[in-house]
Amino acid sequence: MIGPSGVVRRQALRRAAAVALVDDGRSWTYAELDRAADAHAAALRRAGAAPGDVVAILARNHATFVLELIALDRIGAVSLPLNWRLHAEELRYVCGHAGVALVLADLEFHEKAEGCGRGVVHEEGTTPEGWLSLPALLREAGGDPAIPDAETSEDGVQRVLYTSGTTSRPKGVTHTHGNIDANQVGQILELGLTDADRTMVSAPLFHVSGLEAPGLATLRAGGTMVIARSYRGEDIVRLAARERVTGLVLAAQIVHDILKMPDLADHDLSALRFIVFAGVPEGVRRAVHAALPHVRLIDTFGMTELCNGACYMDAAHTWTKLGSQGTPLPYVELRVAGPDGAALPPGEIGELLVRGRKVSPGYWRDPEATAAAWRDGWFRTGDLASLDAEGYLWFVDRRANMIKSGGENVAAAEIERVLAAHPEVAEVAVIGVPDEKWDEVPKAFVLPREGSAVDEAALRAHCEAHLARFKVPKHFALVSALPRNDSGKVLKRLLTEEG
Ligand code: ATP
Ligand code: MG
Repeated sequence: MIGPSGVVRRQALRRAAAVALVDDGRSWTYAELDRAADAHAAALRRAGAAPGDVVAILARNHATFVLELIALDRIGAVSLPLNWRLHAEELRYVCGHAGVALVLADLEFHEKAEGCGRGVVHEEGTTPEGWLSLPALLREAGGDPAIPDAETSEDGVQRVLYTSGTTSRPKGVTHTHGNIDANQVGQILELGLTDADRTMVSAPLFHVSGLEAPGLATLRAGGTMVIARSYRGEDIVRLAARERVTGLVLAAQIVHDILKMPDLADHDLSALRFIVFAGVPEGVRRAVHAALPHVRLIDTFGMTELCNGACYMDAAHTWTKLGSQGTPLPYVELRVAGPDGAALPPGEIGELLVRGRKVSPGYWRDPEATAAAWRDGWFRTGDLASLDAEGYLWFVDRRANMIKSGGENVAAAEIERVLAAHPEVAEVAVIGVPDEKWDEVPKAFVLPREGSAVDEAALRAHCEAHLARFKVPKHFALVSALPRNDSGKVLKRLLTEEG
C-alpha cells in the first residue's frame, strides 16, 4: 500500500528534479518535497503527534497543508482537514467527537480553534500563548534523525474528511489507505494523468474535490500539483494560464463566474486539456465548450463517502449522452435499487447503491449513521438515479429533494433544469413547501440575471410551456442571492426555514 508519504518517496527517487508542487510563485521538486516532508514529520513528532493520533489541519490552501498531510502519513497519524468557515463551537464539537490530539492551524484561525486541544500555528512571528510555532519546531527538529515511515495497510485509516453539510451537519467520512489508493489509480487511468500533467487544486484542501480530484493523484503520476489559494473564477483562470495548468476541477458556481469574465479569451489556456465538474446545466456546458473548444469537459458523480468520483464521462459520449455522469471508475460497482435493495432494470429510477474498494468503510466514530447507510455490503447514497442499457449513470436528485405533490413524486432538479434554461434566470433552487390540498407544492427561488426585469408571470408561463401542470411551482420568490456552502451547493435547508 502506498500513501502520500510513499508516493513522494518513490517520485523523489525516480524524478528527483521534476517539479512536484507549486504554491504562491514558489516551487518544490520531488527531492525538495521529500526532504521538507521529513522535516515536517520530525517537527510534528516534537509537537507530540504520534502514530494513530488524529491530527486536525485548520488552514487555507497552501504548501504547508500538503506537507503536513504527507508528514502525518509518514508518522502514521490520521489527518483531519477542517473547514475553516465552521464556527468555534462547531469546531469544538467536531474535534471532540473525532478525538483530535493536536491541531495545526493558520494563525488567523487560532482563536476559533481554542478548545480543540493542543495546537501548532503555521506562521513565524508572535505565537499565541499556549501554542507551539511550526517554524520554531522545524528549526529545533533540524538535527533529528528521519523518522522511519509508518507501516500502512489496506484497511488502515489515513484520514477523516467531512461531507459538505448540504443536507445536515457535516459527517466525518473515514478514508482508508485502500480507498485513497483505489481513487488515485482510477483518476490516473480515467484522466490519463502522466508526469507531464500540471493539475490545479482549485477547491478547498479540506474537501474531497480539492484533495483527491485529481490533486494527490497527480503526485502519484509524477506530475505537478498547482495550489490555488483563491477559488474565485478569475484567480483560477489567471493561475491556470500562468502555470500552464493541464487539468482543473471546478464547482458549478465557479464555471458561471468564469464564463462572465469579459477578458476570458485574453488568457492563454492552451495547455488546459480537461475540466472536471458536476451538475453543470446544459446551456452553461455548451457555453464553456464554445469558449474553450480544445478542453475535454468531464461530468462526474462523486461523494466524500466514495472517496471522490464514482463515475466519469468519456470523451466519446460527452455530447451524445449529455446529462449523464458516465461510467464507473475502476473499483466501483453501481446498482440502482428499488426499496427492497434489488437491482432495477435499465432506465428505471431508484436509489443509487455503490460498493467496491473506493467506498469508505463508514462514518468516523458514528456506528449508527454507518449502519443506516452501509447495508448488505452496499453503501446507500441517498441519491436517485438510473443506469441506461450501456451502464451510464443518470443522476436525478437527492431523495431528500423529491417533492411529494398530490401523490406524485417530483424531482426538484427537473424543475430547476427548466428554469435554468430561461435566458433571464441566473440561478435557481426549488424546494417543496407544505400545502393543505396537495401535501407539498414546489416553490422556486430565482435569482434573475443582472439588469433583468423578469417577473413571476413570465417564469410561470415558461414552466407551463415545459412542465406537466403538477410540476409547475405554485410559489415563486425572486431573490438577490442563494445560500451556498463551500462546495457551491445551495443550502436548501436554509430556504426551507425561510419558507
Ligand atoms: P452532506 O452529505 O453533508 O449533506 P453533500 O452530500 O453535499 O453534503 P458531498 O460528499 O460533497 O457532500 O457531495 C455529494 C453529493 O453531491 C451527492 O450525494 C449528490 O447528491 C451530489 N452530486 C454529486 N455529483 C453530482 C452531479 N453530477 N450532479 C448533481 N449533484 C451531484
Ligand atoms: Mg452527502
